[in-house]
Amino acid sequence: MAKATRSNQRKVSTPKRDTGAPSKDLIRDLVTANHILFQQGVLDGFGHVSVRHDKDPTKFLLARNMAPALVTAADILIFDLDGRPVSSKAPSVYLERFIHSEAYKARGDVQAVVHSHSKAVIPFGVVPEVSLQPIFHMGAFLGEGCPIFEIRDAGGPGCDLLIRSAELGASLARDLGSHSAILMRGHGATIVADALKRAVFRSVYMQMNAELQTTALGLGRVNYLTTEEARAATATVEGQIQRAWDMWEIMSRNLGFRK
Ligand SMILES: [Zn+2]
Repeated sequence: MAKATRSNQRKVSTPKRDTGAPSKDLIRDLVTANHILFQQGVLDGFGHVSVRHDKDPTKFLLARNMAPALVTAADILIFDLDGRPVSSKAPSVYLERFIHSEAYKARGDVQAVVHSHSKAVIPFGVVPEVSLQPIFHMGAFLGEGCPIFEIRDAGGPGCDLLIRSAELGASLARDLGSHSAILMRGHGATIVADALKRAVFRSVYMQMNAELQTTALGLGRVNYLTTEEARAATATVEGQIQRAWDMWEIMSRNLGFRK
């Protein structure tokens, strides 16, 4: 009888209370994304990656102001869609957090945002005669086009090129429109996606595409993927994101950064 009672007690024990905190898996993946993007040369001491909160779509997760390679789970902060940290005791935060907040505000489909100063990509934002186009199947998503954000139009002459206000973030989001990536003239690029791993994947292959395109342009006329090829190749290669992620995760772990 006593045994049955203990068993019943086990059955009715209350499930773990949902505190509304982001899941540990989401935080772990965001830390890994920071390390991968550094390891792959997309981010250096600067640039950042964020993900939308998995329990509250009006919030997103982004590290405090620090180099991406050094981000640990303890450094991840929660922000609202005005770019304000939720905690009043938050440490120093990224100046350009409005890139993220305004992208999430403008686009309900966006679940992750990467902002980089990738040196391979920057030339395509400053040479009006040449546009970034898909040169190989892994960069196929670029077939949808990649607009260029001219901050002079939004920030006026003499601005420092940084997205340092919600207004500038909103201008960037407006020019991004429904695209997956936007070049920022004289600054870098911003990539958005419906999942964190896709945003990382596209950031890595956008950079590789830019490197290859620069090489090819030096050789002669370039035969780019057609719109139809780009669409078909995107569907195929993006079915393999986990394969690359698993390898990059181990490569980044081998650098020895704390999680
Ligand atoms: Zn920047």
